[in-house]
This record gives sequence, structure tokens and C-alpha cells, in this order.
Amino acid sequence: MNACIITIGDELLQGFTVDTNSTWISQQLQKVGIDVTTKVTVADGMDEIISTVKYKLDANHNFIFITGGLGPTHDDVTKTALNKLFNSEEVFDEKWYDILTERFAHRGLKIPDSNKSQATILKCSDSIENSLGTALGMRILQNQTQIFILPGVPQEMKSMMTETVIPEYLPNRINPQIITLQTIGITESQLFEDIQDIVEQNSDNYKFAFYPHHTGVNIRLKAINEESDLYKIKEVLGERLGNLIYGQDDESLSEIVGEMLANDGLTIATAESCTGGLLGKLLTDIPGSSEYFLGGVIAYSNDLKQNLVGVSFKTLETYGAVSKEVAIEMANGIRKKTSADIGIGTTGISGPTGGTEEKPVGLVHIAVSMNDITIVKEYHFLKDREMHREMTAYTALNLLRKQLIFNSNPT
Ligand code: AMP
Ligand code: MG
Repeated sequence: MNACIITIGDELLQGFTVDTNSTWISQQLQKVGIDVTTKVTVADGMDEIISTVKYKLDANHNFIFITGGLGPTHDDVTKTALNKLFNSEEVFDEKWYDILTERFAHRGLKIPDSNKSQATILKCSDSIENSLGTALGMRILQNQTQIFILPGVPQEMKSMMTETVIPEYLPNRINPQIITLQTIGITESQLFEDIQDIVEQNSDNYKFAFYPHHTGVNIRLKAINEESDLYKIKEVLGERLGNLIYGQDDESLSEIVGEMLANDGLTIATAESCTGGLLGKLLTDIPGSSEYFLGGVIAYSNDLKQNLVGVSFKTLETYGAVSKEVAIEMANGIRKKTSADIGIGTTGISGPTGGTEEKPVGLVHIAVSMNDITIVKEYHFLKDREMHREMTAYTALNLLRKQLIFNSNPT
């Protein structure tokens, strides 16, 4: 089965908004065995929309997903264009309008007239409810092609896909067709070398793909025939790679680490310098993180390192702010100040200025203090400020993950 995705919006073509809708939809479709064979972005124009949808209908896709242009303002013309293309008529959905009126009233607002247009659907369509926004979605069956028309706002589109489109209209796959294993702490070339024999021996039944990014490498496994058993090959790779694999599919490192902390009943606090709060941000990305994350300090200056975290003047003077000694005192200091079970300290040179021959841009020290051990590691990351910050924060989370694994199974 195959699909085409059409994203609509001038802002997507002008580069102001990144089209994240199509990538997210593609990922969901892959999971149920639908291949996306074309993807096209179209301006908010009647003629452009009509001609594109018409052209894609001729290609006989099983599914066409359209997002965008369902807003209440004059520049959103998707529905009008489809109405013209299918020679249909717009019908007012009284029930939906009542729901919207009530939602506005609940917020103490009077519903604007322009929202009336979002309570209409085409006569030739079924409606798809929108629990997060005002625009109704639509499903149209045209010959053998199912067309879904959804709003452009990513959160609304995603909730409509998850709540209605996927469970009600897409094929139900119990076995996944694709699994992504997420690794950290190993380069793409080393990873490939480590599992090359497995890849070669299993290439008849699986497609292996490697996707590196600056905080890790993803291995995507695709089932290609009836013999493929993704759980089996996942296990084989798991045995070979061990702790280098931290998660699967959409799982984030913060989520994995958070789950471990919660399960172990441990608390954590951070003292961040070069990561500027990113580590705390990643930890608090997870709902319920208050169970284990006590808080953190962004101790950028030497004064704050001393006064808020308890790093000694002597250590700073002797070794400098970017040193393993300071990272250790930051981790120990924040742990002591907050009475957390675990403390993390990060200090490094993100650049582009501030590097020396002895301490070049990219250098970082990360310390994790737990039980009676404080480990500290030195890294030399990329010399791009943003990448450096992200690599440091993710590496700190990974160091923590490894310490937690060791803590629960010290061998
Ligand atoms: P619309 O439904 O066209 O009114 O779009 C509403 C909002 O969703 C706007 O802020 C758009 O920039 C955003 N949006 C529309 N299409 C996409 C897309 N393909 N990916 C990410 N955001 C989008
Ligand atoms: Mg728009």
C-alpha cells in the first residue's frame, strides 16, 4: 500500500515554517506498512491545490494525506478548493458548532463569526473530530483512494491521526514493519564495523540503515518479507551492542533515564556551566520529572560556581573553570546543597572564542556524583556552539544512565 502527502501553506514554501507534518505522518504510515511514495508542498492557492490533488488522484495512491489551509482566515482555501474539485457542497455541522461555542464560553470568550467556516464539511466527506482545535477534519473516498484532510497545526493533526485516522481507517498491524534502535557513545563507522557480520548474514530478511546525528546513531531495521522477525533481529543486535543501545523508536534518552531514576527511587540535581540549563531542560521534558529532578543551577561565572554550588576558590584558581576538578566539585557541591542522591556537573568551552592551546574549543568535563563515587570524563566535542552544548547535555544523560545501570547491577 502506498500514500502521498500534500502539505499546504505559503509559509512552508517561503521557509518560515518547517514541514514537520509530513515527516511525522510518514513515520506513522511506515509503522503500519504503508509506503509514502510522493510528498509535495503546495501554496495556499485554489488553482495550485486543485491541480495538485487532481494530479495525485490520477496516480491511484491508496491514501492521500492533506494538511494545512483549514484555518478561519481568508488565506486558508483548502476546503473551498476541494469543494470545487469534487463538485460538492459545504454543509454546516450544527453539533460541532455547538461544541465550539461551548469551548469558547468555557474560556470566557464569545465565538468569532469566522469560526463558523470551520464547522462546515464537504457533503462528500465524513468528518474527523478535533479535540485540540476548531477545524473539523474530513475523509473523502474517491474511487480506490482514501483522502484525509487535516489542519496544519501539528498538535491538532497528530491528535486527529492518533485518535481517529490510525485506529479507524488504517490497516491494523500487530507486528511492526520497522524498528529504530537508538545508540549513543559510538561513531557510525565503529558501529557498522561492530555489527557488519550481522548485517551481511541477515540482509535477505531485513533492510538495515544507519542514521547518524551529533548525539548518536540510529539503526533502522525494516522487515522485507514473511521471514522477517524484527523482535528477533533486535535481540541479536542487543546482545552484540549491549548498553550502547539506549532506546527504541520514539523513546528519548531523558525518558529512559527518568524511568530509571523513578524506578530506583533516586533524586538528582544539576550544576551546569557550558550546557546553560539544557540538561535541566531535557530532564524536565518528561512529565512527572518532579518525582526525581530536584532542580539545578546554571553556574556560569566563577562567583556562582563558588557561592551557589560550593566550588572552592583554590580549585578554580589552580585548575581553571574548565577542568575535571571543577566538574567534580560542581557535581558534589550541588548534590550536597540539595541533598539529592545524584549530582551532575558540566563545564566546557563551547566557543567560538575562549579556547587556548591547552584547553581548545570543544573541550568539556562532565562529572556524575552518586553513592561514594564521583566519576568524571573528558571529551573533545565539535566546535559548533550549539552542537557542543547538545552533545554535552546528552552525554551527561548517558553517563548518568550508565552509572544507574552499574548501580543496579554492580559486577
Ligand atoms: P493552517 O492549518 O494552514 O492554518 O496552519 C496552521 C499552523 O500550522 C500555522 O502556524 C502553520 O505554519 C502550521 N503548519 C501548517 N502546515 C504545517 C506543516 N506541514 N508542518 C508544520 N507546521 C505546519
Ligand atoms: Mg495555512
